Amino acid sequence: MNKFLYFGLDDSIIRSLDVLNYLEPTEVQKVVVPSLLEGKDLIVKSQTGSGKTASFGIPLCERVEWEERAPQALVLTPTRELALQIKEEIFNIGRYKRIKVECLFGKSSYQSQVKNLKQRTHIVVATPGRLLDHISRGTIDLSKIKTVIIDEADEMFAMGFVEQIEQVLKALPKHRTMALFSATMPEAIKKLSKRFLKNPELIEIKSANTTEKRILQQYIRIEREQSKEKILKKVMIAENPDSSLIFCNTKIMVETVTKELKHLGMAIEMLHGGLEQKDRTQIIQDFKRGYFNYLVATDVAARGIDVADISLVVNYDVPDNPETYVHRIGRTARFENSGKAISLVNYHDKRSFDAILTAQNHLIEEVSVPTEAKIEKNKLSFGKKQTQKPKLRKEKGFDFNQEIMKIHINAGKKTKMRPGDVVGALCQIDGMTAEDIGVIDLMDISTFVEILNGKGPMVLKTLQTMPIKGRMRRVSRSNETNYERDLKEN
Ligand code: AMP
Repeated sequence: MNKFLYFGLDDSIIRSLDVLNYLEPTEVQKVVVPSLLEGKDLIVKSQTGSGKTASFGIPLCERVEWEERAPQALVLTPTRELALQIKEEIFNIGRYKRIKVECLFGKSSYQSQVKNLKQRTHIVVATPGRLLDHISRGTIDLSKIKTVIIDEADEMFAMGFVEQIEQVLKALPKHRTMALFSATMPEAIKKLSKRFLKNPELIEIKSANTTEKRILQQYIRIEREQSKEKILKKVMIAENPDSSLIFCNTKIMVETVTKELKHLGMAIEMLHGGLEQKDRTQIIQDFKRGYFNYLVATDVAARGIDVADISLVVNYDVPDNPETYVHRIGRTARFENSGKAISLVNYHDKRSFDAILTAQNHLIEEVSVPTEAKIEKNKLSFGKKQTQKPKLRKEKGFDFNQEIMKIHINAGKKTKMRPGDVVGALCQIDGMTAEDIGVIDLMDISTFVEILNGKGPMVLKTLQTMPIKGRMRRVSRSNETNYERDLKEN
């Protein structure tokens, strides 16, 4: 039995959790889900990788009233990558309830966001800047917001978003539930919570098995005459990780290190803020899916990025502050896995690293540069690993797609199609009920409809010969991606 049933959640939510294989709440979920369901204000200090996103995603989805057209919940988050990831998690949880989630962030089309907001939108996930644009231009209706979540609050403060967050909060209805999530609790956050939260419950998750405890933390001291690049290569061969994330402090360093590691024959990609948003999203997606297993990145990847099994995190450059260190190493040992983090510390890094050592509750063990003997021993298996065909990973939402087929109809708003016309036509098909229809996205000249419960193939076939709103329409399957095909063949 799914233990989330104890929270009294709607059947549609439980079904989604079953597909996601979330059968038992994590520590943070045990506390946060019931409190948010009751509408209590919260301050939550919890580790990344603890199931934090679902801890607010589940109650947000549960509390959504489907009929309401204006957004009812708002999640504020510092980066676009995180916004997309949260959207995906909430979308999955709300899949059977047909919850519409819209992401608002910069460097992506303002107009298409405006268009989507005009359609029914239940939950908005946003970065503060773009949300403020929508607020000031009057393109978002916030009057129905019941719950607001501030995620990664410490990072938003570090990025200088305080004023923007305050402006957003002032634009929201007075009666609302608010929860603030932060891995660390700097003074500024305590101040903000005093101003905007009502008698908040303070929740600190200190489970016996926190992420940090499952990470073996090590560092290598690098002398002035030694080359970091050479030592990194040695570490890669000696550790021979199945997957690894290597952090640098600057874009230039990311480029240099990527080039160096390519010389070792590694299939490695890079991620930094100088890349186009489209490329950044694609790289993260391909990394998650396992098309490649090694990534060199700046801190754009330190927060939240949830790749199931990164076995080794390397700090090629030591981060400037201890909080970033915690976030970086938290990319490994996700959800009960274990992992390793190695920092390369030279005289430039000494000061930052001393601060990290002081702030850490856990031991960071000094280890020496891998010996030549160890490298010789591993060379063969390292080389072999680099030539293997990548083993693709199943994305979290993947199992939904086996039951849910998205179909495309070549008619939309401009041809006077309305959601009711689509529902009407679908319900005339033998064996179809309204329950089998998922999210409907009505665009200008296209409509996308999700058909649930494995009935997609039957519906697709029937619609080839059945008119919708009095006319035959071109209807095709829209969601078999190259990735799904690759995964089947893999
Ligand atoms: P987060 O802390 O939100 O980044 O979540 C860390 C990972 O835990 C994600 O991959 C989630 O999909 C996964 N997860 C969250 N809740 C559960 C649960 N109750 N059971 C199993 N996995 C979960």
